[in-house]
Amino acid sequence: MPKGHHYGRTQTIAYTSEYHRIQANLFKSLLTKPLGNYSISSDDLNNEHRKFKLTTLECGVRLMTFTINDKPHKIALIVDKRSASNKLYISCPYCQKQRQSLYAIKYTYGCRQCIGLHYASQSERPNKRLMRRIRKLRKELWGYDWPDVNNMFENVYYWPKPKWMRRKTFNL
Ligand SMILES: [Zn+2]
Repeated sequence: MPKGHHYGRTQTIAYTSEYHRIQANLFKSLLTKPLGNYSISSDDLNNEHRKFKLTTLECGVRLMTFTINDKPHKIALIVDKRSASNKLYISCPYCQKQRQSLYAIKYTYGCRQCIGLHYASQSERPNKRLMRRIRKLRKELWGYDWPDVNNMFENVYYWPKPKWMRRKTFNL
């Protein structure tokens, strides 16, 4: 597609960089600090995403509990003892996996993967729009009378090269 050429309405795509990220190493000092209430100093986070309570589980693992939208969101501080540097991870409140960073979204924190899944389930409509766009582009390249032009299960890879296009461009 030539630069500056747009088909249809401009769409917004959720990139993780749009969200404020909290990194595990930010919380390193909490491993030795007294338990109690803390607040992350950041202008990018709203009040509920900033305040948390530091507690300890029976097993000794330290836990940060954020109260966002009246619900508790628990993030554990996990030290990876297998690594020589005792690297610190924070657990995702959703999948419980240990992560190097979490992202602040409207009512919670989540890891990149969980946020991705969240948005994938909401993007039914953009997908339909994308298919329409692909069909439109195909028609421009192969013409309306090409038999499989609307068939999204047909991979264009096996289709003939449009006459006017150089092979180099086409393979991109
Ligand atoms: Zn997750």
